[in-house]
Amino acid sequence: MSVTPTPSKDFIREIIDEDLATGKHDGTVTRFPPEPNGYLHLGHAKSICLNFGIAEEYGGRCHLRFDDTNPTKEDVEYVDSIKEDIKWLGFDWGNHLYFASDYFDKLYEWAVYLIKEGKAYVDEQTAAEMKTSRGDLQTPGTDSPYRDRPAEESLDLFQRMKAGEFEDGRMVLRAKVDMAHPNLNMRDPVLYRIVHAEHHRTGDKWCIYPMYDYTHGQSDALEHVTHSLCTLEFENHRALYDWFLENLPVPSRPRQIEFSRMNLNYTVMSKRKLLQLVTEGLVSGWDDPRMPTICGIRRRGYPPAAIRNFCKTIGITKFQSTNDFALLENAVREVLNQEAARYMAVLDPIRVVITNYPEGQVEEMEAVNHPEKPEAGTRLVPFSRELFIEREDFMEDPPKKFFRLSPGTEVRLRSGYFIRCEEVIKDAGGEIVELRCTYDPTTRGGENPADGRKVKATIHWVSAAHAIEAEIRLYDRLFMTEAPDRGEGSFLDHLNPDSLKVLSGAKLERNLAAVAPGETVQFERLGYFCADKDSTAEALVFNRTAGLRDAWAKAKDQG
Ligand code: ATP
Ligand code: MG
Repeated sequence: MSVTPTPSKDFIREIIDEDLATGKHDGTVTRFPPEPNGYLHLGHAKSICLNFGIAEEYGGRCHLRFDDTNPTKEDVEYVDSIKEDIKWLGFDWGNHLYFASDYFDKLYEWAVYLIKEGKAYVDEQTAAEMKTSRGDLQTPGTDSPYRDRPAEESLDLFQRMKAGEFEDGRMVLRAKVDMAHPNLNMRDPVLYRIVHAEHHRTGDKWCIYPMYDYTHGQSDALEHVTHSLCTLEFENHRALYDWFLENLPVPSRPRQIEFSRMNLNYTVMSKRKLLQLVTEGLVSGWDDPRMPTICGIRRRGYPPAAIRNFCKTIGITKFQSTNDFALLENAVREVLNQEAARYMAVLDPIRVVITNYPEGQVEEMEAVNHPEKPEAGTRLVPFSRELFIEREDFMEDPPKKFFRLSPGTEVRLRSGYFIRCEEVIKDAGGEIVELRCTYDPTTRGGENPADGRKVKATIHWVSAAHAIEAEIRLYDRLFMTEAPDRGEGSFLDHLNPDSLKVLSGAKLERNLAAVAPGETVQFERLGYFCADKDSTAEALVFNRTAGLRDAWAKAKDQG
Protein backbone atom coordinates (compact mmCIF):
# COMPACT_ATOMS: atom_id res chain seq x y z
CA MET A 1 0.00 0.00 0.00
CA SER A 2 1.43 3.38 -0.88
CA VAL A 3 0.58 6.12 1.52
CA THR A 4 2.09 9.56 1.12
CA PRO A 5 2.13 11.57 4.31
CA THR A 6 0.69 15.07 3.89
CA PRO A 7 1.20 17.86 6.40
CA SER A 8 -2.54 18.33 6.83
CA LYS A 9 -2.88 14.90 8.42
CA ASP A 10 -3.49 14.63 12.12
CA PHE A 11 -0.80 13.20 14.37
CA ILE A 12 -2.44 9.78 14.58
CA ARG A 13 -2.55 9.33 10.81
CA GLU A 14 1.07 10.48 10.70
CA ILE A 15 2.00 7.74 13.13
CA ILE A 16 0.10 5.20 11.02
CA ASP A 17 1.82 6.38 7.84
CA GLU A 18 5.15 5.93 9.56
CA ASP A 19 4.26 2.45 10.83
CA LEU A 20 3.24 1.38 7.36
CA ALA A 21 6.30 2.96 5.73
CA THR A 22 8.72 1.24 8.13
CA GLY A 23 6.94 -2.07 7.77
CA LYS A 24 6.00 -2.22 11.45
CA HIS A 25 2.50 -3.03 10.26
CA ASP A 26 1.20 -3.93 6.84
CA GLY A 27 -2.32 -2.68 7.51
CA THR A 28 -4.42 -1.09 10.19
CA VAL A 29 -6.74 -2.67 12.71
CA THR A 30 -8.60 -0.21 14.91
CA ARG A 31 -11.58 -0.63 17.19
CA PHE A 32 -14.40 1.31 18.76
CA PRO A 33 -14.87 0.01 22.31
CA PRO A 34 -18.04 1.28 24.00
CA GLU A 35 -19.23 0.17 27.39
CA PRO A 36 -22.85 -0.91 26.89
CA ASN A 37 -24.01 1.22 29.81
CA GLY A 38 -25.72 4.09 28.02
CA TYR A 39 -26.55 5.59 24.65
CA LEU A 40 -23.88 7.01 22.38
CA HIS A 41 -23.38 10.78 22.23
CA LEU A 42 -21.64 13.20 19.90
CA GLY A 43 -18.33 12.65 21.68
CA HIS A 44 -18.52 8.98 20.78
CA ALA A 45 -19.14 10.01 17.18
CA LYS A 46 -15.70 11.62 17.16
CA SER A 47 -14.12 8.33 18.18
CA ILE A 48 -16.29 6.35 15.73
CA CYS A 49 -15.37 8.65 12.83
CA LEU A 50 -11.69 8.36 13.74
CA ASN A 51 -11.54 4.58 14.13
CA PHE A 52 -13.84 3.62 11.28
CA GLY A 53 -12.52 6.48 9.15
CA ILE A 54 -8.96 5.14 9.43
CA ALA A 55 -10.18 1.70 8.37
CA GLU A 56 -11.81 3.21 5.28
CA GLU A 57 -8.85 5.39 4.34
CA TYR A 58 -6.20 2.71 4.83
CA GLY A 59 -8.17 -0.26 3.61
CA GLY A 60 -7.96 -1.70 7.11
CA ARG A 61 -10.66 -2.93 9.41
CA CYS A 62 -12.38 -1.53 12.45
CA HIS A 63 -13.85 -3.74 15.14
CA LEU A 64 -16.85 -2.99 17.23
CA ARG A 65 -16.03 -4.32 20.66
CA PHE A 66 -18.28 -3.99 23.63
CA ASP A 67 -16.24 -3.51 26.79
CA ASP A 68 -18.71 -5.35 28.96
CA THR A 69 -16.87 -5.96 32.20
CA ASN A 70 -19.36 -4.28 34.50
CA PRO A 71 -22.41 -6.59 34.70
CA THR A 72 -24.45 -4.44 37.05
CA LYS A 73 -24.57 -1.40 34.76
CA GLU A 74 -24.92 -3.03 31.36
CA ASP A 75 -27.88 -3.99 29.29
CA VAL A 76 -28.71 -5.45 25.86
CA GLU A 77 -30.87 -2.37 25.25
CA TYR A 78 -27.64 -0.39 25.07
CA VAL A 79 -25.88 -2.96 22.88
CA ASP A 80 -28.68 -2.73 20.31
CA SER A 81 -28.87 1.06 20.33
CA ILE A 82 -25.10 1.41 19.95
CA LYS A 83 -25.11 -0.83 16.87
CA GLU A 84 -28.00 1.09 15.35
CA ASP A 85 -26.27 4.43 15.95
CA ILE A 86 -22.97 3.37 14.37
CA LYS A 87 -24.78 2.07 11.30
CA TRP A 88 -26.76 5.27 11.05
CA LEU A 89 -23.53 7.27 11.10
CA GLY A 90 -22.59 5.29 8.02
CA PHE A 91 -20.06 2.79 9.33
CA ASP A 92 -19.87 -0.96 9.23
CA TRP A 93 -17.88 -3.41 11.32
CA GLY A 94 -18.60 -6.27 8.91
CA ASN A 95 -18.22 -9.51 10.84
CA HIS A 96 -15.89 -7.96 13.39
CA LEU A 97 -18.27 -7.72 16.30
CA TYR A 98 -16.67 -8.65 19.62
CA PHE A 99 -17.39 -8.59 23.29
CA ALA A 100 -14.76 -8.37 26.01
CA SER A 101 -16.82 -11.03 27.77
CA ASP A 102 -15.83 -13.43 24.95
CA TYR A 103 -12.34 -13.23 26.45
CA PHE A 104 -13.23 -13.96 30.07
CA ASP A 105 -11.77 -17.51 29.89
CA LYS A 106 -8.55 -16.28 28.34
CA LEU A 107 -8.26 -13.41 30.81
CA TYR A 108 -8.75 -15.84 33.69
CA GLU A 109 -6.06 -18.11 32.28
CA TRP A 110 -3.69 -15.13 32.00
CA ALA A 111 -4.45 -14.08 35.57
CA VAL A 112 -3.43 -17.56 36.72
CA TYR A 113 -0.30 -17.18 34.61
CA LEU A 114 0.58 -13.91 36.37
CA ILE A 115 0.07 -15.51 39.79
CA LYS A 116 2.35 -18.40 38.86
CA GLU A 117 4.97 -15.93 37.62
CA GLY A 118 4.86 -14.16 40.97
CA LYS A 119 3.29 -11.09 39.33
CA ALA A 120 -0.17 -11.16 40.90
CA TYR A 121 -1.55 -11.95 44.34
CA VAL A 122 -4.83 -12.20 46.18
CA ASP A 123 -5.21 -9.29 48.58
CA GLU A 124 -7.51 -9.62 51.60
CA GLN A 125 -7.20 -6.03 52.80
CA THR A 126 -10.49 -4.22 53.17
CA ALA A 127 -11.32 -1.58 50.59
CA ALA A 128 -10.54 1.13 53.15
CA GLU A 129 -7.15 -0.42 53.95
CA MET A 130 -6.33 -0.67 50.29
CA LYS A 131 -7.20 2.95 49.79
CA THR A 132 -4.94 4.10 52.63
CA SER A 133 -2.03 1.86 51.67
CA ARG A 134 -2.16 3.12 48.10
CA GLY A 135 -0.71 6.49 49.14
CA ASP A 136 -1.16 9.53 46.95
CA LEU A 137 0.80 11.72 44.57
CA GLN A 138 3.02 12.97 47.41
CA THR A 139 3.23 9.74 49.41
CA PRO A 140 4.38 6.37 48.13
CA GLY A 141 2.07 3.48 48.88
CA THR A 142 2.86 0.69 51.33
CA ASP A 143 2.91 -3.00 50.56
CA SER A 144 -0.07 -5.08 51.53
CA PRO A 145 0.66 -7.73 54.19
CA TYR A 146 -0.60 -10.26 51.61
CA ARG A 147 1.70 -9.08 48.86
CA ASP A 148 4.39 -11.71 49.36
CA ARG A 149 2.16 -14.66 50.13
CA PRO A 150 3.17 -17.84 48.23
CA ALA A 151 1.86 -18.18 44.69
CA GLU A 152 0.08 -21.46 45.59
CA GLU A 153 -1.88 -19.68 48.28
CA SER A 154 -3.01 -16.93 45.87
CA LEU A 155 -3.82 -19.53 43.25
CA ASP A 156 -5.97 -21.50 45.68
CA LEU A 157 -7.84 -18.37 46.80
CA PHE A 158 -8.30 -17.11 43.26
CA GLN A 159 -9.83 -20.43 42.21
CA ARG A 160 -12.14 -20.28 45.21
CA MET A 161 -13.07 -16.69 44.36
CA LYS A 162 -14.13 -17.99 40.96
CA ALA A 163 -15.98 -20.91 42.52
CA GLY A 164 -18.14 -18.46 44.45
CA GLU A 165 -16.89 -19.21 47.98
CA PHE A 166 -16.58 -15.57 49.02
CA GLU A 167 -18.95 -12.66 49.19
CA ASP A 168 -18.52 -9.44 47.17
CA GLY A 169 -15.58 -7.31 48.28
CA ARG A 170 -14.06 -10.00 50.51
CA MET A 171 -10.79 -10.06 48.47
CA VAL A 172 -9.36 -9.04 45.09
CA LEU A 173 -6.64 -10.17 42.73
CA ARG A 174 -3.96 -7.52 42.23
CA ALA A 175 -0.99 -7.21 39.91
CA LYS A 176 2.36 -6.99 41.68
CA VAL A 177 3.96 -3.95 40.07
CA ASP A 178 5.31 -1.25 42.37
CA MET A 179 3.58 0.31 45.38
CA ALA A 180 5.93 3.31 45.23
CA HIS A 181 5.46 3.98 41.54
CA PRO A 182 4.95 7.70 40.77
CA ASN A 183 2.02 6.70 38.55
CA LEU A 184 -0.79 5.65 40.89
CA ASN A 185 -2.21 3.28 38.28
CA MET A 186 0.95 1.20 38.64
CA ARG A 187 0.54 0.70 42.39
CA ASP A 188 -0.59 -2.91 42.27
CA PRO A 189 -3.81 -2.35 40.33
CA VAL A 190 -6.76 -4.63 40.91
CA LEU A 191 -7.24 -7.25 38.17
CA TYR A 192 -10.33 -9.06 39.44
CA ARG A 193 -13.11 -8.31 41.86
CA ILE A 194 -15.92 -10.48 43.21
CA VAL A 195 -19.34 -9.45 41.91
CA HIS A 196 -22.17 -11.90 42.36
CA ALA A 197 -24.23 -10.58 39.47
CA GLU A 198 -25.65 -11.98 36.26
CA HIS A 199 -23.96 -10.80 33.11
CA HIS A 200 -26.09 -9.97 30.07
CA ARG A 201 -24.03 -12.39 27.99
CA THR A 202 -22.31 -14.88 30.28
CA GLY A 203 -25.26 -15.28 32.63
CA ASP A 204 -24.20 -16.68 36.00
CA LYS A 205 -21.04 -18.37 34.74
CA TRP A 206 -18.84 -15.87 36.54
CA CYS A 207 -18.91 -14.22 39.92
CA ILE A 208 -15.50 -12.61 39.45
CA TYR A 209 -15.09 -9.96 36.78
CA PRO A 210 -11.90 -8.50 35.26
CA MET A 211 -11.25 -4.77 35.64
CA TYR A 212 -11.38 -2.50 32.62
CA ASP A 213 -7.62 -1.81 32.60
CA TYR A 214 -6.78 -5.50 32.72
CA THR A 215 -9.29 -6.31 29.99
CA HIS A 216 -8.81 -3.57 27.47
CA GLY A 217 -5.25 -4.03 26.23
CA GLN A 218 -5.48 -7.80 26.22
CA SER A 219 -8.65 -7.63 24.16
CA ASP A 220 -6.80 -5.36 21.72
CA ALA A 221 -3.93 -7.85 21.58
CA LEU A 222 -6.24 -10.83 21.02
CA GLU A 223 -7.87 -9.00 18.12
CA HIS A 224 -4.51 -7.94 16.66
CA VAL A 225 -5.45 -4.28 16.93
CA THR A 226 -2.54 -2.20 15.65
CA HIS A 227 -3.50 1.25 16.96
CA SER A 228 -5.64 1.48 20.07
CA LEU A 229 -7.02 5.02 20.00
CA CYS A 230 -8.52 6.45 23.15
CA THR A 231 -9.16 9.75 24.86
CA LEU A 232 -6.64 11.67 26.95
CA GLU A 233 -7.90 10.52 30.34
CA PHE A 234 -6.27 7.17 29.57
CA GLU A 235 -2.82 8.69 29.13
CA ASN A 236 -1.94 7.77 32.72
CA HIS A 237 -3.10 4.23 32.09
CA ARG A 238 -0.75 3.65 29.18
CA ALA A 239 2.11 2.44 31.40
CA LEU A 240 -0.17 -0.23 32.80
CA TYR A 241 -1.52 -1.09 29.35
CA ASP A 242 2.07 -1.73 28.27
CA TRP A 243 2.98 -3.58 31.49
CA PHE A 244 0.30 -6.20 30.85
CA LEU A 245 1.39 -6.66 27.25
CA GLU A 246 5.02 -7.06 28.35
CA ASN A 247 4.22 -9.57 31.08
CA LEU A 248 1.69 -11.79 29.34
CA PRO A 249 2.12 -14.19 26.39
CA VAL A 250 -0.09 -12.05 24.16
CA PRO A 251 -0.29 -12.74 20.39
CA SER A 252 0.33 -9.13 19.28
CA ARG A 253 1.50 -5.71 20.51
CA PRO A 254 -1.04 -2.96 20.02
CA ARG A 255 -0.06 0.65 20.67
CA GLN A 256 -2.24 2.97 22.68
CA ILE A 257 -2.45 6.56 21.39
CA GLU A 258 -4.50 9.25 23.12
CA PHE A 259 -6.36 12.20 21.62
CA SER A 260 -8.54 14.91 23.15
CA ARG A 261 -12.24 14.43 23.74
CA MET A 262 -14.93 16.32 21.95
CA ASN A 263 -16.51 18.87 24.24
CA LEU A 264 -19.37 21.04 23.06
CA ASN A 265 -20.58 24.26 24.63
CA TYR A 266 -24.18 24.61 25.84
CA THR A 267 -24.48 20.91 26.58
CA VAL A 268 -23.20 18.10 28.78
CA MET A 269 -21.73 14.95 27.39
CA SER A 270 -21.12 12.49 30.17
CA LYS A 271 -23.33 9.43 30.17
CA ARG A 272 -23.93 9.84 33.89
CA LYS A 273 -25.35 13.33 33.44
CA LEU A 274 -27.36 12.38 30.37
CA LEU A 275 -28.83 9.48 32.34
CA GLN A 276 -29.76 11.91 35.10
CA LEU A 277 -31.65 14.11 32.64
CA VAL A 278 -33.57 11.04 31.52
CA THR A 279 -34.31 9.51 34.93
CA GLU A 280 -35.38 12.85 36.42
CA GLY A 281 -37.79 13.37 33.54
CA LEU A 282 -36.14 16.64 32.45
CA VAL A 283 -36.19 15.40 28.87
CA SER A 284 -38.55 12.91 27.25
CA GLY A 285 -35.92 10.17 26.94
CA TRP A 286 -32.49 9.35 25.54
CA ASP A 287 -33.79 10.31 22.11
CA ASP A 288 -35.27 13.65 23.12
CA PRO A 289 -34.30 15.92 20.20
CA ARG A 290 -32.54 18.28 22.63
CA MET A 291 -30.15 15.57 23.81
CA PRO A 292 -26.59 15.40 22.41
CA THR A 293 -27.08 11.66 21.99
CA ILE A 294 -26.87 10.14 18.52
CA CYS A 295 -30.48 8.97 18.76
CA GLY A 296 -31.48 12.46 19.95
CA ILE A 297 -29.89 14.33 17.06
CA ARG A 298 -31.25 11.73 14.64
CA ARG A 299 -34.75 12.42 15.91
CA ARG A 300 -34.00 16.12 15.70
CA GLY A 301 -33.31 15.62 11.98
CA TYR A 302 -29.54 16.07 11.87
CA PRO A 303 -28.19 14.16 8.85
CA PRO A 304 -25.34 11.70 9.50
CA ALA A 305 -23.18 13.39 6.85
CA ALA A 306 -23.28 16.58 8.93
CA ILE A 307 -21.89 14.76 11.97
CA ARG A 308 -19.12 13.24 9.88
CA ASN A 309 -18.27 16.61 8.33
CA PHE A 310 -18.25 18.25 11.74
CA CYS A 311 -15.87 15.62 13.13
CA LYS A 312 -13.60 16.18 10.15
CA THR A 313 -13.65 19.93 10.70
CA ILE A 314 -12.72 19.81 14.38
CA GLY A 315 -9.97 17.28 13.66
CA ILE A 316 -7.86 15.17 16.00
CA THR A 317 -5.35 16.73 18.39
CA LYS A 318 -4.01 16.35 21.89
CA PHE A 319 -5.25 19.79 23.00
CA GLN A 320 -8.22 20.01 25.32
CA SER A 321 -10.75 22.36 23.83
CA THR A 322 -14.43 23.07 23.62
CA ASN A 323 -16.13 23.14 20.25
CA ASP A 324 -18.85 25.56 19.35
CA PHE A 325 -22.32 24.08 19.03
CA ALA A 326 -22.98 26.68 16.33
CA LEU A 327 -20.30 25.02 14.20
CA LEU A 328 -22.20 21.74 14.39
CA GLU A 329 -25.44 23.49 13.47
CA ASN A 330 -23.70 25.06 10.49
CA ALA A 331 -22.59 21.63 9.36
CA VAL A 332 -26.21 20.52 9.65
CA ARG A 333 -27.46 23.49 7.59
CA GLU A 334 -24.83 22.92 4.94
CA VAL A 335 -25.96 19.36 4.31
CA LEU A 336 -29.67 20.09 4.61
CA ASN A 337 -29.47 23.07 2.29
CA GLN A 338 -28.33 20.61 -0.37
CA GLU A 339 -30.62 17.72 0.53
CA ALA A 340 -33.86 19.04 1.96
CA ALA A 341 -36.90 19.51 -0.29
CA ARG A 342 -38.69 22.86 0.08
CA TYR A 343 -42.27 23.25 1.25
CA MET A 344 -44.44 26.03 2.61
CA ALA A 345 -45.79 26.07 6.13
CA VAL A 346 -47.20 28.87 8.24
CA LEU A 347 -46.41 28.50 11.92
CA ASP A 348 -48.35 31.45 13.30
CA PRO A 349 -51.14 32.01 10.78
CA ILE A 350 -53.23 35.06 10.02
CA ARG A 351 -56.07 34.79 7.50
CA VAL A 352 -55.93 36.64 4.19
CA VAL A 353 -59.03 37.05 2.02
CA ILE A 354 -58.42 38.06 -1.59
CA THR A 355 -61.54 40.04 -2.37
CA ASN A 356 -61.14 40.14 -6.16
CA TYR A 357 -60.39 36.40 -6.49
CA PRO A 358 -63.43 34.38 -7.63
CA GLU A 359 -65.19 32.44 -4.90
CA GLY A 360 -64.85 28.70 -5.26
CA GLN A 361 -61.94 28.94 -7.72
CA VAL A 362 -58.81 26.88 -7.07
CA GLU A 363 -55.62 27.07 -9.14
CA GLU A 364 -52.84 24.53 -8.89
CA MET A 365 -49.64 26.55 -8.84
CA GLU A 366 -46.33 25.00 -9.78
CA ALA A 367 -43.68 25.33 -7.03
CA VAL A 368 -39.99 24.49 -7.29
CA ASN A 369 -38.81 21.72 -4.95
CA HIS A 370 -35.20 22.87 -4.74
CA PRO A 371 -33.92 26.19 -6.08
CA GLU A 372 -30.44 24.83 -6.86
CA LYS A 373 -31.51 21.45 -8.14
CA PRO A 374 -33.80 21.59 -11.16
CA GLU A 375 -33.74 17.78 -11.23
CA ALA A 376 -35.67 17.81 -7.95
CA GLY A 377 -38.65 18.90 -10.02
CA THR A 378 -41.76 20.80 -9.07
CA ARG A 379 -44.98 20.15 -7.17
CA LEU A 380 -48.46 21.60 -7.25
CA VAL A 381 -49.70 23.92 -4.53
CA PRO A 382 -53.36 25.02 -4.49
CA PHE A 383 -54.18 28.75 -4.54
CA SER A 384 -57.61 30.05 -3.55
CA ARG A 385 -59.48 33.07 -2.27
CA GLU A 386 -58.60 32.45 1.39
CA LEU A 387 -55.03 31.94 2.48
CA PHE A 388 -52.87 32.00 5.56
CA ILE A 389 -49.67 33.99 5.85
CA GLU A 390 -47.28 34.32 8.77
CA ARG A 391 -48.50 36.85 11.35
CA GLU A 392 -44.94 38.19 11.49
CA ASP A 393 -45.06 39.06 7.80
CA PHE A 394 -47.64 41.78 8.38
CA MET A 395 -47.29 45.04 10.29
CA GLU A 396 -50.07 47.54 10.60
CA ASP A 397 -47.72 50.37 11.41
CA PRO A 398 -44.39 49.33 9.91
CA PRO A 399 -41.01 50.95 10.53
CA LYS A 400 -39.12 52.33 7.53
CA LYS A 401 -37.19 49.18 6.63
CA PHE A 402 -40.12 46.77 6.81
CA PHE A 403 -40.75 45.58 3.26
CA ARG A 404 -43.31 42.88 3.84
CA LEU A 405 -47.07 43.32 3.96
CA SER A 406 -48.65 46.42 5.51
CA PRO A 407 -51.74 48.49 4.67
CA GLY A 408 -51.49 49.74 1.09
CA THR A 409 -48.31 47.84 0.21
CA GLU A 410 -47.77 44.97 -2.16
CA VAL A 411 -45.76 41.71 -1.75
CA ARG A 412 -45.18 38.62 -3.81
CA LEU A 413 -46.63 35.35 -2.62
CA ARG A 414 -44.04 32.71 -3.46
CA SER A 415 -45.22 30.81 -6.59
CA GLY A 416 -48.56 32.65 -6.22
CA TYR A 417 -49.45 36.22 -7.14
CA PHE A 418 -48.71 39.77 -6.06
CA ILE A 419 -51.18 40.84 -3.40
CA ARG A 420 -51.91 44.29 -1.91
CA CYS A 421 -53.33 44.82 1.56
CA GLU A 422 -56.49 46.93 1.40
CA GLU A 423 -58.08 46.53 4.82
CA VAL A 424 -57.31 45.24 8.31
CA ILE A 425 -60.08 43.47 10.24
CA LYS A 426 -59.89 43.36 14.04
CA ASP A 427 -61.91 41.64 16.72
CA ALA A 428 -63.55 43.44 19.65
CA GLY A 429 -60.28 43.26 21.59
CA GLY A 430 -58.33 45.03 18.84
CA GLU A 431 -56.52 41.87 17.74
CA ILE A 432 -56.00 41.56 13.98
CA VAL A 433 -58.00 38.57 12.73
CA GLU A 434 -58.03 39.00 8.98
CA LEU A 435 -56.46 40.95 6.15
CA ARG A 436 -58.47 41.92 3.10
CA CYS A 437 -56.27 42.01 0.03
CA THR A 438 -56.53 42.23 -3.74
CA TYR A 439 -54.38 40.30 -6.21
CA ASP A 440 -53.00 41.16 -9.63
CA PRO A 441 -54.05 38.40 -12.05
CA THR A 442 -51.17 39.28 -14.40
CA THR A 443 -48.58 38.13 -11.83
CA ARG A 444 -49.42 34.43 -11.87
CA GLY A 445 -46.57 32.30 -10.47
CA GLY A 446 -45.14 35.42 -8.84
CA GLU A 447 -44.02 36.91 -12.18
CA ASN A 448 -43.31 40.65 -12.38
CA PRO A 449 -46.18 42.55 -14.05
CA ALA A 450 -45.83 44.15 -17.47
CA ASP A 451 -45.83 47.69 -16.08
CA GLY A 452 -42.44 47.04 -14.48
CA ARG A 453 -43.80 47.32 -10.93
CA LYS A 454 -41.53 45.62 -8.38
CA VAL A 455 -42.01 44.40 -4.84
CA LYS A 456 -39.32 44.16 -2.19
CA ALA A 457 -40.50 41.02 -0.43
CA THR A 458 -41.61 37.48 -1.18
CA ILE A 459 -43.49 35.67 1.54
CA HIS A 460 -44.84 32.15 2.01
CA TRP A 461 -48.49 31.17 2.33
CA VAL A 462 -50.89 28.23 2.28
CA SER A 463 -54.44 27.96 0.97
CA ALA A 464 -56.82 27.94 3.95
CA ALA A 465 -59.21 25.32 2.61
CA HIS A 466 -56.40 22.97 1.60
CA ALA A 467 -54.04 23.42 4.54
CA ILE A 468 -53.31 20.56 6.89
CA GLU A 469 -52.54 21.01 10.57
CA ALA A 470 -49.55 19.82 12.51
CA GLU A 471 -47.97 20.08 15.90
CA ILE A 472 -44.65 21.88 15.64
CA ARG A 473 -41.97 21.37 18.27
CA LEU A 474 -39.51 24.23 18.40
CA TYR A 475 -36.28 23.24 20.07
CA ASP A 476 -33.58 25.44 21.41
CA ARG A 477 -30.42 24.77 23.38
CA LEU A 478 -30.98 22.59 26.41
CA PHE A 479 -28.70 24.77 28.56
CA MET A 480 -28.46 28.53 28.82
CA THR A 481 -24.79 28.75 29.73
CA GLU A 482 -21.75 27.75 27.73
CA ALA A 483 -20.29 25.37 30.28
CA PRO A 484 -23.19 24.05 32.36
CA ASP A 485 -21.11 21.43 34.11
CA ARG A 486 -18.36 23.76 35.23
CA GLY A 487 -18.58 26.32 37.98
CA GLU A 488 -20.79 26.34 41.02
CA GLY A 489 -23.90 24.33 41.70
CA SER A 490 -25.42 21.59 39.63
CA PHE A 491 -25.47 21.51 35.85
CA LEU A 492 -29.23 21.26 36.20
CA ASP A 493 -29.31 24.87 37.45
CA HIS A 494 -28.46 25.94 33.91
CA LEU A 495 -31.29 24.25 32.03
CA ASN A 496 -32.94 26.52 29.47
CA PRO A 497 -36.63 26.78 30.47
CA ASP A 498 -37.52 27.65 26.86
CA SER A 499 -35.72 24.76 25.21
CA LEU A 500 -39.02 23.36 23.92
CA LYS A 501 -42.02 25.30 22.64
CA VAL A 502 -44.95 23.43 21.16
CA LEU A 503 -47.11 25.16 18.55
CA SER A 504 -50.48 23.66 17.79
CA GLY A 505 -52.00 26.05 15.26
CA ALA A 506 -49.60 25.69 12.34
CA LYS A 507 -51.03 25.39 8.80
CA LEU A 508 -49.04 23.36 6.30
CA GLU A 509 -49.16 22.86 2.58
CA ARG A 510 -50.95 19.53 2.00
CA ASN A 511 -47.90 17.91 0.31
CA LEU A 512 -46.27 17.74 3.74
CA ALA A 513 -48.67 14.96 4.74
CA ALA A 514 -46.52 12.59 2.70
CA VAL A 515 -43.27 13.29 4.57
CA ALA A 516 -42.25 10.13 6.40
CA PRO A 517 -41.11 10.16 10.03
CA GLY A 518 -37.35 10.74 10.07
CA GLU A 519 -37.34 12.80 6.88
CA THR A 520 -36.10 16.39 7.09
CA VAL A 521 -37.42 19.13 4.82
CA GLN A 522 -37.15 22.90 4.60
CA PHE A 523 -40.12 25.05 5.50
CA GLU A 524 -39.31 28.00 3.26
CA ARG A 525 -38.02 31.06 5.08
CA LEU A 526 -38.38 29.29 8.46
CA GLY A 527 -35.85 26.51 8.77
CA TYR A 528 -35.41 22.77 8.58
CA PHE A 529 -38.03 20.50 10.06
CA CYS A 530 -38.08 16.75 10.58
CA ALA A 531 -41.20 14.60 10.79
CA ASP A 532 -41.08 13.13 14.28
CA LYS A 533 -41.48 9.45 15.11
CA ASP A 534 -44.71 10.44 16.91
CA SER A 535 -46.09 11.74 13.62
CA THR A 536 -49.07 9.88 12.10
CA ALA A 537 -51.33 10.53 9.13
CA GLU A 538 -54.00 11.76 11.57
CA ALA A 539 -51.71 13.85 13.76
CA LEU A 540 -48.60 15.21 12.11
CA VAL A 541 -45.68 16.27 14.28
CA PHE A 542 -42.61 18.15 13.06
CA ASN A 543 -39.43 18.94 15.00
CA ARG A 544 -37.47 22.04 14.16
CA THR A 545 -34.03 20.73 13.26
CA ALA A 546 -32.37 24.13 12.82
CA GLY A 547 -33.22 27.64 11.74
CA LEU A 548 -31.93 28.90 8.41
CA ARG A 549 -29.41 31.06 10.24
CA ASP A 550 -27.80 31.03 13.64
CA ALA A 551 -30.42 32.84 15.73
CA TRP A 552 -28.02 33.14 18.66
CA ALA A 553 -25.36 34.89 16.60
CA LYS A 554 -28.02 37.31 15.34
CA ALA A 555 -29.13 38.04 18.89
CA LYS A 556 -25.53 38.82 19.82
CA ASP A 557 -25.08 41.15 16.84
CA GLN A 558 -28.09 43.14 17.90
CA GLY A 559 -26.58 43.44 21.37
P1 ATP B 1 -18.70 9.11 29.12
O1 ATP B 1 -17.50 9.78 29.69
O2 ATP B 1 -19.57 10.01 28.33
O3 ATP B 1 -19.48 8.36 30.13
P2 ATP B 1 -17.14 6.90 28.25
O4 ATP B 1 -15.79 7.32 27.84
O5 ATP B 1 -17.27 6.26 29.56
O6 ATP B 1 -18.16 8.09 28.05
P3 ATP B 1 -17.21 4.59 26.59
O7 ATP B 1 -18.36 3.73 26.27
O8 ATP B 1 -16.16 4.04 27.46
O9 ATP B 1 -17.79 5.92 27.21
O10 ATP B 1 -16.57 5.19 25.28
C1 ATP B 1 -16.27 4.46 24.12
C2 ATP B 1 -15.22 5.17 23.35
O11 ATP B 1 -15.63 6.49 23.03
C3 ATP B 1 -13.94 5.31 24.15
O12 ATP B 1 -12.84 4.97 23.32
C4 ATP B 1 -13.91 6.76 24.54
O13 ATP B 1 -12.60 7.22 24.67
C5 ATP B 1 -14.65 7.42 23.39
N1 ATP B 1 -15.26 8.67 23.83
C6 ATP B 1 -16.13 8.85 24.85
N2 ATP B 1 -16.45 10.15 25.01
C7 ATP B 1 -15.76 10.83 24.05
C8 ATP B 1 -15.66 12.21 23.67
N3 ATP B 1 -16.33 13.17 24.32
N4 ATP B 1 -14.85 12.53 22.64
C9 ATP B 1 -14.19 11.58 21.97
N5 ATP B 1 -14.23 10.27 22.26
C10 ATP B 1 -15.02 9.88 23.29
MG1 MG C 1 -15.57 4.68 29.80
